Amino acid sequence: MKYTLTLLAALLSMLAALPSAAAAASAPTTDQGVRVARFKADREAALSFTLDDGWEDNATIAAPLFDRYGFHVTFFLVPGMIPLDDNEKGTHKYGQIPWRRWKQIAEAGHEIGNHTLQHPGLTKLDDAAVRAQIEEGRQRITEKIGVAPVSLANPGNGRDDRVRKLVYAQHAVAREFETGYGGKEFTAARANGLVDAALQQKRWMVAMLHAIENGYAAFTNASVLEEHLKHVQTLQGRLWVDTFGNVGRYVKERDAAQLTVQRDATSATITLTTGLDASRFNYPLTVVIEKVQAASAEAKREGVAAPLPVTIAADRLLVEWVPGAAPVTLRWRTK
Ligand SMILES: [Zn+2]
Repeated sequence: MKYTLTLLAALLSMLAALPSAAAAASAPTTDQGVRVARFKADREAALSFTLDDGWEDNATIAAPLFDRYGFHVTFFLVPGMIPLDDNEKGTHKYGQIPWRRWKQIAEAGHEIGNHTLQHPGLTKLDDAAVRAQIEEGRQRITEKIGVAPVSLANPGNGRDDRVRKLVYAQHAVAREFETGYGGKEFTAARANGLVDAALQQKRWMVAMLHAIENGYAAFTNASVLEEHLKHVQTLQGRLWVDTFGNVGRYVKERDAAQLTVQRDATSATITLTTGLDASRFNYPLTVVIEKVQAASAEAKREGVAAPLPVTIAADRLLVEWVPGAAPVTLRWRTK
């Protein structure tokens, strides 16, 4: 019996190890020293700030604060709560900020994501109602912001396989996991510890915030968040901070990427494809060419006149491009 238990424990620990092993092996690589970077610019980990519901102080406090630190974040709005007419005062707590202000926020580089038209629990609705909540939310954002939303967050994070299928029919990425921020007990030190751990584990952390000072899960005050952003800023060489839609697309493309490489001493021709729907998955991936001591380098994509920018690091070259059939050729001069 003891034996069986040990065996069972061993099996369970193997099973537990499987997803992380698969994740670690997911960034494709070739035996020619060419690989897709785990995260953009070969950073070790990624962080996305997502702010749910469109609380008033997301626009009045959070957006200017993130702007000050140069971080692009994702606001998941509930479009059906925001008055169609900008001059009309919103009656719902999720609808206090007019569309024209959200449009400015989007134009500053932030992402406006879909949190469904009216924020119902999707798992309790039938297919047609789920589809309508997603589709109408998506259409409203597209019409008011001028850009179709890439991503969706399920209201109350209510997720199951049926809903998931309906979500991915209309969005490239959806929030599947999150780390809750906020509340009066929440400190900058705690947030810093969460991000430090994600960095150590080389993973993508998705922070979920709601109100900043007034409303659900508000912090004691905005300085808690600001203290945290100061810490995050010091990690930027190793940590990629970007919108949920950008990191989410990167991760899906990276995990689906196929590389073919022809390399010699001073050049490499690389084809990078994903097999994903190119109209949705069009975010550039970073390709790393290892063991190159380059003095100079250039990269050209077939059929594209302008050269691609190349970053020369101590022992490698970094180039980024949107996956697709056209190959990229790099040439370098060694030191
Ligand atoms: Zn919500």
